[in-house]
Amino acid sequence: MRTKYIAGNWKMNMDRAGAVDLSKALVSELKGLDGSFMIAPPFVYLDAVASVIKGSNIRLGAQNAASTENGAHTGEVSVAMLKDIGVQSVILGHSERRDAQNESDKLINEKILAVLNGGLEVVLCIGEQYSQRIAGATEEVCGKQVRGCLKGLTPEQMKNVVIAYEPVWAIGTGKTATPEEANAVHKFVRGVLAEMFGNETAENTKILYGGSMNDGNAEALLAQPDIDGGLIGGASLKADKFSAICRFSVK
Ligand code: PEP
Repeated sequence: MRTKYIAGNWKMNMDRAGAVDLSKALVSELKGLDGSFMIAPPFVYLDAVASVIKGSNIRLGAQNAASTENGAHTGEVSVAMLKDIGVQSVILGHSERRDAQNESDKLINEKILAVLNGGLEVVLCIGEQYSQRIAGATEEVCGKQVRGCLKGLTPEQMKNVVIAYEPVWAIGTGKTATPEEANAVHKFVRGVLAEMFGNETAENTKILYGGSMNDGNAEALLAQPDIDGGLIGGASLKADKFSAICRFSVK
């Protein structure tokens, strides 16, 4: 049985004091809740947030990682470095990075392998653009991303992979896929996982929804059978909103 997972992507927001305050508030709001929660602050605040959430029920996530182990890669942060400061999970393939940093499925696949080899969890983002949705290409786009990004992985490695379906047109726009629309894509993705890795892996892999999820629409989205949680951007920056979503996930 899959349990729900709620992850917060803080993106390039916060200052040090704000990151510490938000993580302190979340530790207190989520205390005693029997669920799975993760927050991904900017790299430079990971250490500060790690100290605050240590021993709590919140996992520490990073928003990216290098595909290479070490060496002459100016500006990059390796998996070993992330592990060293307590990171447990890494978001990869976010549409903002696919777009602004031109990240390809091939590069994302290399990063996924690096993160898994380092023993950390991957949250792999996939999703279609609005033009692709109206052209009826959602399944083609998402299927290609899943196949390209997860190429060469074993069912054993898949135990450490979570997928986040994030329709690009819903990210930060206030527009969400309806629960039924989102669930249909999740179901399709689960079918692709079954073809690639077998039914057991497909049934056990968590598929989160992301794209303007908030405390007003989370309950309906999380009630869908193939929606196993949420990857939350904007609403993860407010302790009351994020913790309300977390509470829906353990109902
Ligand atoms: C995201 O960027 O992963 C995201 C889902 O953002 P938002 O919740 O703000 O749409």
